Amino acid sequence: MNCVLNQEEQEELLLGYTCAHLDADTARTYERHLKSCPQCQKLVELQLMLNSTFEDWTAPDPSPNFDAKLFAQIRAEQVNATPWWQALFGWKLLVPAALAATLLIVFLVRKPEPTAVVEAIPTEQIEKVEQALEDFEALHAISEAPAKEAL
Ligand SMILES: [Zn+2]
Repeated sequence: MNCVLNQEEQEELLLGYTCAHLDADTARTYERHLKSCPQCQKLVELQLMLNSTFEDWTAPDPSPNFDAKLFAQIRAEQVNATPWWQALFGWKLLVPAALAATLLIVFLVRKPEPTAVVEAIPTEQIEKVEQALEDFEALHAISEAPAKEAL
């Protein structure tokens, strides 16, 4: 028979129960469930065995100069550490990146070219054009006049 609890509930209750972290009501409810659930009984049994194994286990003593070796290794790694940009891009992209940076700096620093100065049209020329237009109108009026008389 499969357990009615989902995996998250099962794990939470199992660990709480085997470490005695459950409140009294939850522990009693879980114990009632254990009586009818062989799957959870097996898990509790395995967890208790694992807990006792860890309680009996003692970590081996480190070698006599463990700290000195560890700090020497850390120092060596710090000295030989690759800069982040080199680790990220390597040397291949360094030249194009430097070129792009130079172009950007040149673009940002350059002075804008002076805008072309529009040469002012001399007043004399304007007067000549006006005179030419007046002459044209006068000629046009003269050329029209005989045609009217002819009608
Ligand atoms: Zn169960």
